[in-house]
Amino acid sequence: HLPTGELQALDAAHHMHPFTEGAALAKKGARIITSAKGVWLTDSEGEEILDAMAGLWCVNIGYGRDELVDAAARQMKQLPFYNTFFQTSHVPAIMLAKRLAELAPGALNHVFFNGSGSDSNDTNLRLVRHYWAAKGQPERKVVISRWNGYHGSTMGAASLGGMKGMHAQGGLPIPDIAHIDQPDWWSEGGDMTPDEFGLERARQLESKIEEIGADKVAAFIAEPVQGAGGVIVPPESYWPEIQRITQKYGILLIADEVITGFGRTGNWFGSQTMSITPDIMTCAKGITSGYIPLGASIVSTEIFDTLNAAEEFAHGYTYSGHPVACAVALENLRILEEEGIVERAGKETAPYLKEKWQSLADHPLVGEAKIVGMMGSIALTPNKATRAKFAAPAGTVGYICRERCFANNLVMRHVGDRMIISPPLVISKDEIDTLIARARLSLDETYEKIKA
Ligand code: PLP
Repeated sequence: HLPTGELQALDAAHHMHPFTEGAALAKKGARIITSAKGVWLTDSEGEEILDAMAGLWCVNIGYGRDELVDAAARQMKQLPFYNTFFQTSHVPAIMLAKRLAELAPGALNHVFFNGSGSDSNDTNLRLVRHYWAAKGQPERKVVISRWNGYHGSTMGAASLGGMKGMHAQGGLPIPDIAHIDQPDWWSEGGDMTPDEFGLERARQLESKIEEIGADKVAAFIAEPVQGAGGVIVPPESYWPEIQRITQKYGILLIADEVITGFGRTGNWFGSQTMSITPDIMTCAKGITSGYIPLGASIVSTEIFDTLNAAEEFAHGYTYSGHPVACAVALENLRILEEEGIVERAGKETAPYLKEKWQSLADHPLVGEAKIVGMMGSIALTPNKATRAKFAAPAGTVGYICRERCFANNLVMRHVGDRMIISPPLVISKDEIDTLIARARLSLDETYEKIKA
């Protein structure tokens, strides 16, 4: 390939990056990733980088699995594209829908395919409104979600999300979306115990439903564990109370499992880890381990039966159930299961990672170190005892730490002043040791830098 400098110049000139400040990138030059194997990325200068984010929380199976490539090639040769509109179907979509119905908990037995997490949540938004209309309650339109939740970048999904910076760009949210506060005890819990705080935050759902009127509320959507908001693990009291409230008011519960699905929290789905019974699950990312785009909305039999008895749901994407993506997903799920990757991650790797991750809590910069399964976060703070925040703007110290990690060949993201990880599920214990050693070194360097 071209020399790194030339690639960087071309990149800055022509390539518009998601969630990236263009001018800063142009000045610095992107780090160009050229190949990957297992948990390791290689850049255009030949440096090897430990990817503690599994790309964007998606490469659950690890990089470099040729079986997925072969599955894609076979499917491309046999049937590269066909749609499932207008009473046609194809084998990969059928077999994947069946497999997902087997894996998904409870009555979640029916799958609508999408292209990504964002458009899966757009599907959900339209689907729950169509569902209530089919039940003779078309005024039930409002979907409640949480501040600092992330559900994607389309107009619908970004509206469902609670990222205020995203709302500020382009006049979001769209109508009939409401938000409640997140269960982030570290930042917002004040003098309450985590469980008191979890209950208080869950009960905001009840107040919001009462305020809007239950007869106008269609659904509540949330990530079992908030991911892009900073890996906010909710207090134990939180989810049972949310479930009680959704049941009391007959509100549909949508679990956005785009990150938490396919082994990330130590079980196949975060809903199992959090003991939630959702009516709809949003899936993407780990469904193909990120090797190819695919999203899915998995719905309950009650929703499926209601929709089937109603007029056509006028919704679908050209790439809904793309045969190549479905074939890759099937192969990915086969390997995750047959090689015991999900099980081993939950039973062996996650406890080891937890012990090592939590050992970082003795660092002077680290407040809480939270982890569930294979996703974790640490809160950076100038004062552990008071859970103090760094001087505004939030994220300055987190950014320094992320930069130190990157310089030390470790991909760890920052969300404000929280550092987060979500490594491939196949990471070995030795690689976890390397991850922790590089994280500690980066924390030390950050500490020195902010003291100076
Ligand atoms: N939902 C959650 C919980 C996510 O974390 C993401 C992406 O990070 C999305 C939805 C959007 O998915 P996509 O980027 O595939 O559109």
